[in-house]
Amino acid sequence: MGKGNDQPRIVVIGGGFTGLAAAYEISRQQIPVTVIEKDNQIGGLAASFEINGEKLEKFYHHWLTNDEEVIRLLKELDCENNLQYRRSRTGIYRDNNFFRLSTPVDLLRFSPLSPLNRVRLGLLTLRARRIKKWKQLESMTAEQWLLKLGGAEVYRVVWEPLLRGKFGSFGPEISAAWFWNKMVLRGGSRSKTGEEVLLYYRGGFAAFAEQIANRIKSTGGVILTGAQVKALMVKDGRVNGVQTSKETIDADLVIATPALPIVADLVQPHVSEEYAAVLKKVTYLANVCLVLHLDRNLSDIYWLNVNDPNFPFVAVIEHTNFESAETYGGAHIVYLSSYLPEAADLYRMQESEVFEFFLPYISRMFPKFDRSWVCGYHVWKARYAQPVVMRNHGRLIPSSVTPLTGLYLATMAQIYPEDRGTNYAIREGRRIGRIVAEHLVNPHSIASTI
Ligand SMILES: Cc1cc2nc3c(=O)[nH]c(=O)nc-3n(C[C@H](O)[C@H](O)[C@H](O)COP(=O)(O)OP(=O)(O)OC[C@H]3O[C@@H](n4cnc5c(N)ncnc54)[C@H](O)[C@@H]3O)c2cc1C
Repeated sequence: MGKGNDQPRIVVIGGGFTGLAAAYEISRQQIPVTVIEKDNQIGGLAASFEINGEKLEKFYHHWLTNDEEVIRLLKELDCENNLQYRRSRTGIYRDNNFFRLSTPVDLLRFSPLSPLNRVRLGLLTLRARRIKKWKQLESMTAEQWLLKLGGAEVYRVVWEPLLRGKFGSFGPEISAAWFWNKMVLRGGSRSKTGEEVLLYYRGGFAAFAEQIANRIKSTGGVILTGAQVKALMVKDGRVNGVQTSKETIDADLVIATPALPIVADLVQPHVSEEYAAVLKKVTYLANVCLVLHLDRNLSDIYWLNVNDPNFPFVAVIEHTNFESAETYGGAHIVYLSSYLPEAADLYRMQESEVFEFFLPYISRMFPKFDRSWVCGYHVWKARYAQPVVMRNHGRLIPSSVTPLTGLYLATMAQIYPEDRGTNYAIREGRRIGRIVAEHLVNPHSIASTI
């Protein structure tokens, strides 16, 4: 344990929701912990920027009513009253038309499908909800499973454009288990009348991250921002510190939460080639998000899937059809989201190039749109935005225990079969935090608990 005093020193790399949740759990046990975050703010992929003095996520964020870990943590932090439950309107854009898809009645009116196939689509979602043993879907692709359940037309019209739009050429390889889970969890976030209900936090996700950070700090924890971990310090196969862009920090235990390829680079000098290769097996897509501030709304839909593979974005998310424009001084906020490989031209474009590239597509969707409506815009990019979860993903997930004594992993790609999300970041962060804290009490506990 720590030199000169009895307190162990725990370092958490990454101040996203996984890192914050891990540090929160450790600090609950009165154990000092240091979170080291590369960016100038905490929050990771759920970090924010300011619009008219109000914090807004760089990438659109909401919660589902079944995001139980979030709700539990909010209760513990005594800030559950900041949760806002909102009905949301969802739809699909296809063949130059908009279709509502918020309620069962909308489904029955969904004219791109024949009446028989509308019923099939409805039955498919009901049958999906009845599946409890997801392991049976592990070795199937979503394509195989959806074709089997709903037939070719439903797949071609509804699911294939979504899979292709989000995952590009990986679309046909995406895991059935992952897709099933996403469909069931989002489909389950509904009111009694069948409308979708989503949750937001007063002050945005940044305010929630701050609440967690404040609790960590109030129990003696430290949060360092603008400090990138450049190297691990290792002696005799045991991690004993980290080298950041600013200083060297001693540590008895380290939890790494960045994307696996980043962790692979950090451990590479100290582990076998085979182990470093294990951490590089999962492919990640990047994301480019154009955030428009408009003087009016584009539509009354919150979440619009763009089922047209010729469009450069897969969804139009009109945030201020969810959270009021008044919150942002009257600005109407629209996110246009594109998932893509890092090598794609779009990922390399400058902010103004992305804006100009997207504009004609916005005009095509919304013929009345005029660029004079645009009061401002931002472009945000994330290199590791979405792990590509293919069939048998479970086999690619590395253990939380690493070959380096004292180094543990809790990262987005280890979440499965659920989709990555702050709810699961909190679940996994807390889980690893609890395990590490227990290990300090009983050094033999790790192997039996992971
Ligand atoms: C477009 C988009 C939309 C999303 N929508 C939602 C949503 O609606 N609801 C929801 O719940 N979730 C959503 N998510 C997912 C959610 O943001 C993530 O699942 C969650 O934030 C993951 O948290 P994390 O801490 O595991 O990873 P990250 O947020 O990636 O955090 C890792 C942190 O590590 C830091 N880091 C990396 N390298 C180093 C280093 N060497 N030294 C120090 N720090 C380092 C990074 O800067 C980062 O802050 C969305 C994600 C995207 C991309």
